[in-house]
Amino acid sequence: MEKLNIKNLSIREISAIAEELGEKRHRAAQILKWLYQKGCDGFFEMTNLPSSLRLVLDGRFEITSLRLADSVRSHDDASQKFLFESDDGVLFEAVLMEARGRRTICVSSQAGCALGCTLCRTGEGGFERDLRSDEILNQILFFKKNYLPPRERFNVVFMGMGEPLLNLDSLAKALEIINSNDGFALGEKRITVSTIGIPPAIRELASRTLKFSLAISLNATTDETRRRLMPAARDIDDTLAAALEFARARRTRVTIEYVLIADVNDSPEDARRLAALTAGKPFKINLIPFNEWDGCPHRRPSEERIERFMAPLLPTAPAVTVRRSQGSDICAACGQLRGRR
Ligand code: SF4
Repeated sequence: MEKLNIKNLSIREISAIAEELGEKRHRAAQILKWLYQKGCDGFFEMTNLPSSLRLVLDGRFEITSLRLADSVRSHDDASQKFLFESDDGVLFEAVLMEARGRRTICVSSQAGCALGCTLCRTGEGGFERDLRSDEILNQILFFKKNYLPPRERFNVVFMGMGEPLLNLDSLAKALEIINSNDGFALGEKRITVSTIGIPPAIRELASRTLKFSLAISLNATTDETRRRLMPAARDIDDTLAAALEFARARRTRVTIEYVLIADVNDSPEDARRLAALTAGKPFKINLIPFNEWDGCPHRRPSEERIERFMAPLLPTAPAVTVRRSQGSDICAACGQLRGRR
């Protein structure tokens, strides 16, 4: 009999298995803690479970981990990019970043991406497949086991390869474990899911109890420019309406990400339109100067132009920040992941 991948099971499914095996409910919590807090690789290491249960679990389930294929560190040591290879040979990347003593893990949700945005290097390489929830969780576990002190609090951002909202089942299962006190125990403020904005999926997530912050990659103030940069993107009005519903349903703010590209979306008219689109709404604006790579079609604006773009936003938006991306020298910055050796 083929073994089932236990890290692809939801908390409810693990509880149901414990019950089916005649075990008390707290066994599910113990199993989760071994898997995600202690990073255990084998059921026989789970020493607070009865040996009969360990034997049954070992017969029915496997515990997966990731194979590291390559890694590279940025010149300033603040970012490290890791290339992982899955059991079927698919490659995907994750990044560990450090800023002001706080560590953030940037995870991939898909190997490659089918959406082909011209402002993103991942889109150049095409799409291989969705990542399973165990592959998402194992990226976090890899860093927790190898790079983070045992009790250190960290952040997780879904800003690596892929569009997370097109892999909703795996995303939701992974978020459940990331949130759980028996898993990684991270709340809304420590998790960000970044999406180009898929309104039905945003509305679906708004109605669930999963805890995370939402970031919408808007990147344009007219539908025409948005579609030129992100061919699969929906209309701006539709996207922002879904973001607003999410913010109201969750009583939170949504981050509007805007990659600033020289002579494409960084004009004073764009800044004024962005101010008008977001004024009076529970949106934070995060400006991201474009990160260039060899052969890319776009350029980063000058510092002066970035400052000028910010000016009309400051009086209307509740918060405006400029993201100083790290790791661009190793193509680990926003939009630069590719999944190649
Ligand atoms: S920006 Fe996001 S959705 Fe667009 S190609 Fe890159 S990974 Fe895919």
